[in-house]
Amino acid sequence: MLSYQHKYHAGNHADVFKHLALIALLSKFNRKSKPYFYLDTHAGAGQYALSSQGEHQDTYAFTQLSFEHASEVLQGYKAIIEQYKNANKYPGSPALAISMAREQDKFHFNELASEIYRELKYFVHRAGSTHQRNGFEVLKGLMPPKPNRGMVLIDPPYENADEYDEVSNAVEDALKKWPNGTFAIWYPVLSSTRVNRKTKALEKTPKAGLAEKMLLNLSQRLEQPILVAQFGFCNEDSNIGMYASGLCIVNPPYELDETLNTILMILDSEVSENGAKGSRVYWLNEPK
Ligand code: SAM
Repeated sequence: MLSYQHKYHAGNHADVFKHLALIALLSKFNRKSKPYFYLDTHAGAGQYALSSQGEHQDTYAFTQLSFEHASEVLQGYKAIIEQYKNANKYPGSPALAISMAREQDKFHFNELASEIYRELKYFVHRAGSTHQRNGFEVLKGLMPPKPNRGMVLIDPPYENADEYDEVSNAVEDALKKWPNGTFAIWYPVLSSTRVNRKTKALEKTPKAGLAEKMLLNLSQRLEQPILVAQFGFCNEDSNIGMYASGLCIVNPPYELDETLNTILMILDSEVSENGAKGSRVYWLNEPK
């Protein structure tokens, strides 16, 4: 059995940014009526009960948003959040993606853990294809995709240090068959030390620095443009382990950088801890 359970993290700071960015990405694809392909390699259950208490202080960070902004993306997120909140639930990436899908598009959702997969399959029903395999194998098997336009969301739990390398290898391989594909890779940013929840003692964070190494790897190995958008919800010295999270987007759609900048400005003013300074949008590989 896999140990990571997203139900304990659903709706936290990292989810809010990732999900807003996902809506931003799919809105860009929806601008043209041409069909597109979408794959979520690590999809989770599809939706999560709000009553399942998370272990983090930032659980349900989305409830801190005032939603008073004119941002199209934020309003789209609000509409779906409210719909799920009425049923005491929070939408996962499959729920958000399905809310944006059109009849002509081809959506795929993959989840490895059997129990979670059962929930996902029931949730997705006829809105897309579901797979129960290793996410990186599914990605390989579907390349090059039909239709040829589209994107992949890669959102692994990063429980093992190896997963960072698996991500960069899988993306590099997939791009050989699909050089124009968009890949959105979620990653955690970890402080070098954290407070142990049980003993309350300060300890080293074993996987600190691995995401930064993965970004460097991607930048060196890929020719495609790469945009990075990082949400720093508290400062590194707060010793909570994950103090920021980001999305590394290979072949981002036009003007995604501006949209993500706007979203981060809103999150910084409403959801971040006072004075957190880790949010930024930058080109890891500049467009040619
Ligand atoms: N994308 C989801 C969302 O935003 O709502 C959250 C996904 S959660 C971070 C990661 C999921 O990947 C978990 O449900 C876990 O069971 C699953 N998983 C772990 N290892 C996997 C693998 N090798 N292939 C596919 N899924 C895997």
